[in-house]
Amino acid sequence: MRNTARQTRENRTLTVDFQNETTYFQLLSDGKAFVEFVLAFLLALGFQLAHKATCHGGGCLTRHSHYVRVRLGGVTIWRLQCTRCKAVFTVLPHFVLRYRSMRPDVARDALLATHGGLSLELCAMLYHISPMALYRLVCAFGHHSLVTVLTRCGLQLPTYFLADEKHTYCLTTKAYLPTIVCGRVIWHLGYTEEASAAAFTQSYGAFHRAASQQEPSYRVKGVLTDGFDSTTKSMRTLFPGVRVGICLRHALLKLPKKLVAIASPVRNALRTQFHTLWYRARQRKGLRVFALGQRLRHFVDHITATAGPANGERVRRWFQDKKAGWYAVLADPQMPVTSTLLDQAQNAVERKLFAMKGFHHPKGSQQAFLTGLALLYDLVPYQRRAKHAGQCGVEVEGGKVPTRDWFLNLQILTSGGFR
Ligand SMILES: [Zn+2]
Repeated sequence: MRNTARQTRENRTLTVDFQNETTYFQLLSDGKAFVEFVLAFLLALGFQLAHKATCHGGGCLTRHSHYVRVRLGGVTIWRLQCTRCKAVFTVLPHFVLRYRSMRPDVARDALLATHGGLSLELCAMLYHISPMALYRLVCAFGHHSLVTVLTRCGLQLPTYFLADEKHTYCLTTKAYLPTIVCGRVIWHLGYTEEASAAAFTQSYGAFHRAASQQEPSYRVKGVLTDGFDSTTKSMRTLFPGVRVGICLRHALLKLPKKLVAIASPVRNALRTQFHTLWYRARQRKGLRVFALGQRLRHFVDHITATAGPANGERVRRWFQDKKAGWYAVLADPQMPVTSTLLDQAQNAVERKLFAMKGFHHPKGSQQAFLTGLALLYDLVPYQRRAKHAGQCGVEVEGGKVPTRDWFLNLQILTSGGFR
């Protein structure tokens, strides 16, 4: 039992790529060369070290002390100290994982298998580690903010994004995963047990806080949702003045469900006509919104004529309810039009959660685990299509990663010693 209050010390660990182990062991015996190597690495990354509040850097770094990692067969670890503010940075070579005896190559393979959808138990069996060790590893990375990692890759905070909640179960408890996606990158993956606007606002608020800390003038211009009331409300609360649109693909998928008791050829024909309506509405720039209102009215008349007044009335009410969200999409050419990329991200995450049911118990660290999974989604180079083959989501979106090794990137980008 730990009774004494633990001193909160800032994590100033840096993972440094020494390229191979021999280089590291050679540098250990030469203090000056060691410091120079680390500084050159930091310069290449373009990251600033996290000095103490009063210090803006500019001082010298000296080798401060070293300790031996027993669990890793006695690897010597050096610390560097700022001569001005006395902040101490622990330099972890790339072949060592913070606080873990697992070797990075084992961790890399096991996480990749996890990301691919294999259960923690099977991954653990394949790589001779315990399922719990793998779970804790994902959580350890998940304690770092997605916003910090993504902006370290040079990605701009998203001005337009997709937001929606995945409904899932944590054992028998109903749970929701509020998600923010921009292109191929997950910016936020939260966890709530309620579907209320307040709960979602709190979850999305974590993203908003992190983003505002990064860039105080951060503003969101447009968000595409699936039209769920709590999502829309939380977006308007967090980002006043934001344009909230509703996914046009969902509109297409929903229409057949609104048409009851008619022959399926009639239903299919109406769906095709609805598709054409959207296609034409998107083609017309400038007058798009005005034209859409008129087209929707005509379409309701057409439904009333072909599928009866009951269907016509149902669709009219549905249009009434959703049209503001559709207008919002058409009124701004930069607005995302469909939430397909968000659905894909959530499906990828869901596959993993499904395989790991036994691991999210009520007292587990769901939030850290989910953020860890989101980091894998963003950094594993899983893209297979020719244009982006071999790239990770961050690279597809124009971000830069420090090395060719995605797992080393994860270690470097989640280092605590950077500002
Ligand atoms: Zn300093």
